[in-house]
Amino acid sequence: MTTPIPLPPFEPYTYYQVTARDITPECVNYKNEFTLPSFYSNAGWGTAECGMCGKSMEILTSQILDPQPGEE
Ligand SMILES: [Zn+2]
Repeated sequence: MTTPIPLPPFEPYTYYQVTARDITPECVNYKNEFTLPSFYSNAGWGTAECGMCGKSMEILTSQILDPQPGEE
């Protein structure tokens, strides 16, 4: 059962740096915040998964990477 999480608007196929917070009460990371330095938005819908519980985390902030990784 996955609960939809409201996300900041993402441009599709774009890398962002985001901060995310674990929202799974059973998880040891619950309420901990993480910075993801290269978060990829796919088709405008990205999820940040917790490395411990594998559940989606709540995305708190997003900042587009400039330049984008891989661009010359
Ligand atoms: Zn977790």
